[in-house]
Amino acid sequence: MVTGQVLADRYGRVATDLRVSLTDRCNLRCSYCMPAEGLEWLPDDTVLTDDEIVRLIDIGVRLLGIREVRFTGGEPLVRRGLVDIVARTKALSPSPEVSLTTNALGLSRTAAALAEAGLDRVNVSLDSVRAETFHTITRRDRLDDVVAGIAAAHAAGLTPVKVNAVLLRGVNDDQAPELLRWALTHGYHLRFIEQMPLDAQHDWSRAEMVTADEIFAALATEFTLTPAAEPRGSAPAELFQVDGGPGTVGVIASVTRPFCGDCDRVRLTADGQVRNCLFAREESDLRTPLRAGASDTELAQRWVVAMRGKRAGHGIDDPTFLQPDRPMSAIGG
Ligand code: SAM
Ligand code: SF4
Repeated sequence: MVTGQVLADRYGRVATDLRVSLTDRCNLRCSYCMPAEGLEWLPDDTVLTDDEIVRLIDIGVRLLGIREVRFTGGEPLVRRGLVDIVARTKALSPSPEVSLTTNALGLSRTAAALAEAGLDRVNVSLDSVRAETFHTITRRDRLDDVVAGIAAAHAAGLTPVKVNAVLLRGVNDDQAPELLRWALTHGYHLRFIEQMPLDAQHDWSRAEMVTADEIFAALATEFTLTPAAEPRGSAPAELFQVDGGPGTVGVIASVTRPFCGDCDRVRLTADGQVRNCLFAREESDLRTPLRAGASDTELAQRWVVAMRGKRAGHGIDDPTFLQPDRPMSAIGG
């Protein structure tokens, strides 16, 4: 047995936080993520089954030091077995923290069942509380469903409910204070995320993206932000108290203030590939050996090797930077 191993890379970082993509499919079409017509989805037979997913997570927590599991996608709520996968993950030993990143469509129907299954928290993506802007960004008229889903998660105790927002120039970059006021009113923790070069269309541009400095400037027109006392650790968000607290706001400046040196993440795609970084250009296939009958120890060993190749940083500012072949929706954000 390889118990006691950790997912360490050559730069001294150890991955303890596993992001598991449950599907690359989605019911929204956020412009910074995928094109209006959607994408060619992964073939069904390449997508891991519920049993295969739980087995790999078990190897992660039992043999490799994974302590947190976050389910994502695509949209994880469109995966039929989600509640059961959450329950089985929570029942593993040692039991990890389990959370979900979701667009919240349909969450009002499943929040209570997810909480019952042991889900600890949710992060919901919402870029505008104006119906028109929401439609412009997501190409769907579903703002009310999302808002209801967030409220249901809060009511079910999936707290703190974090709301993630991406600002797009000329679309919603005038709405930062409005979003923050809305989040504070409801007791949600808002975090702004800088737009990253992970869209399927390759439309991202460094010159066009809204930077953390611009977000701070926009918030400063209506709020006073002071750095929060708690240490940031490996958390990607820089956290600020709003108007002396207790409300806070976070800014995840992945592009302009990269935090790669503190990264503790590893990703598993819906088709069973380990990615040691969002921006990795190489993946390590666990699905093929898994289906060929590899033992837990063999799979754990492959995973350990996959981590050793993790690069020091994402290199977005490097002239030689190349966007990964998979878009965000197929990696698992
Ligand atoms: N569908 C779920 C959702 O939207 O929360 C989970 C998957 S989505 C890919 C995960 C997160 O990635 C969301 O918060 C979304 O806003 C973010 N995201 C997608 N494309 C992005 C991009 N190009 N830059 C920054 N964040 C992005
Ligand atoms: Fe779907 Fe999430 Fe991508 Fe929006 S960001 S299209 S909700 S996967």
